[in-house]
Amino acid sequence: SLTIGIVGLPNVGKSTLFNALTKNDVLAANYPFATIEPNVGVVGVPDPRLARLAEIFGSAKILPATVDFVDIAGIVRGASEGEGLGNKFLANIRESDAICQVIRAFKDENVVHVDGKVSPKDDIETINTELILADLQTIEKVLPRLVKESRIQKDKAAKVKAVEEAKAILEEGNTLFSAGIVQGTEKHEPLHDLHLLTTKPFLYVFNVDEEELTDEAFKNEQRALVAPAEAIFLNAKLEADLAELDDEEALELLQSVGQEEPGLATLARVGFDTLGLQTYLTAGPKETRAWTIKKGATAPEAAGVIHTDFQKGFIKAEVISFDDLIATGSVAEARAAGKARMEGKDYVMADGDVVEFRFNV
Ligand code: GDP
Repeated sequence: SLTIGIVGLPNVGKSTLFNALTKNDVLAANYPFATIEPNVGVVGVPDPRLARLAEIFGSAKILPATVDFVDIAGIVRGASEGEGLGNKFLANIRESDAICQVIRAFKDENVVHVDGKVSPKDDIETINTELILADLQTIEKVLPRLVKESRIQKDKAAKVKAVEEAKAILEEGNTLFSAGIVQGTEKHEPLHDLHLLTTKPFLYVFNVDEEELTDEAFKNEQRALVAPAEAIFLNAKLEADLAELDDEEALELLQSVGQEEPGLATLARVGFDTLGLQTYLTAGPKETRAWTIKKGATAPEAAGVIHTDFQKGFIKAEVISFDDLIATGSVAEARAAGKARMEGKDYVMADGDVVEFRFNV
């Protein structure tokens, strides 16, 4: 499955956040015998629709979609020079599908900052500079050969042009992501086999003091720093505390700091979206479940997520939108009201589709 790598300078609260993440580990909760890597946290994507469906269908359990977070240790200035930890750090980032930077904004003088002062802007620059330098090295290694090849193989010209454009963006100190060259898009295609780090989608977690959780002016300033990436604001220590509480106590603590849901819940949802993923839903007496698909997936591709045989033998999907199902109250009522659609193999799945597949075995 797709993973989000968590990176950040030392002492910004990564371990604190990651421990809170692993306490919320849905794999650990739902599959007690699953082997989980120590540096991976599998977090459920909160979706209030699931409980509503489970009620209608009398489901025995609810299985949310999940996001995998990987704790990537070792970013230091000079990581791109590839010494020891630096090498491992870059390799781990290369394996991630998105990059989540944890940025310190909390002030606490008892916690030393590696560069002596708390400055989100400087820290973001420090990390991005390492990633940008690593990409520039990759490009400088392949570009001379590509240029040579393009003299003979004329079809390489477009690739050379794309690589040179990427180089210019990086040399100005910008990530390719911020310039709209992102993995999975057409613009990225010619650069695909270079495995550049800054073409991964980015998201930013600001570890803030509790007062700042509700400080809109402050938050807008940070958002402006990282746009077009998403910014999430949380207090890592508070998240760690929340992970220890039952739902009711957690809600009380959240409300006392003006929040509606834990920062980790927001992080899971935004992370899922940043990875380019969406869900569709199935429901029955056994379970209500959210299944993960790529945005734009067709009905047979969606069926294949449940079982490859479902995709191979796909006939039709009976689709009811979540809203129609809630409005009518049951599958039978939805059918009677003409709200159940039979969709074929070209149907592109929509968010909130409640589905039953018809297939040949
Ligand atoms: P890491 O090096 O990025 O993994 O950082 P840690 O999670 O180990 O945190 C470094 C120190 O900062 C620890 O003493 C934490 O207790 C403290 N810390 C982490 N998050 C917060 C926070 O939100 N507020 C305050 N005041 N301290 C924090």
